Amino acid sequence: MMAANTSYCVGPAVLAAILAHAAAAAPAEACGLVLGAESRIDAAVPAVNVAERPERGFEIDPATLLRVHREARGSGRSVVGWYHSHPNGARQPSATDAARAVEDGRLWLIAAAGQVTAWRAAAGGPVHGRFVAVDLVAG
Ligand SMILES: [Zn+2]
Repeated sequence: MMAANTSYCVGPAVLAAILAHAAAAAPAEACGLVLGAESRIDAAVPAVNVAERPERGFEIDPATLLRVHREARGSGRSVVGWYHSHPNGARQPSATDAARAVEDGRLWLIAAAGQVTAWRAAAGGPVHGRFVAVDLVAG
């Protein structure tokens, strides 16, 4: 279980990369992994969305998942979570996201309507009884 930081510092280049991926993938959902250390996110790694209906959900390509975890090991960084986009513009996690979320401390970043929001699965959270908002601080 990772530390449950309530805010993360994230560089503008990382946010720009996630938003650019989201725009390029629309109307399908974009997805990828985010890497960082402590309470900082310092990289986003795009992945192919291998979901059966990528315009309705996301599934990160398992090969990318494995590779990124392997590369992170020993680098001082870890996979702090993943991102995906909501082409419909909804900034909050969907009910589908909530159904899949497990309380493992990972961050869920959502790109929608030109913004990135962050969430973490927690029992009884205010969104779908499953997610609490996490602050992203630019810098
Ligand atoms: Zn979603």
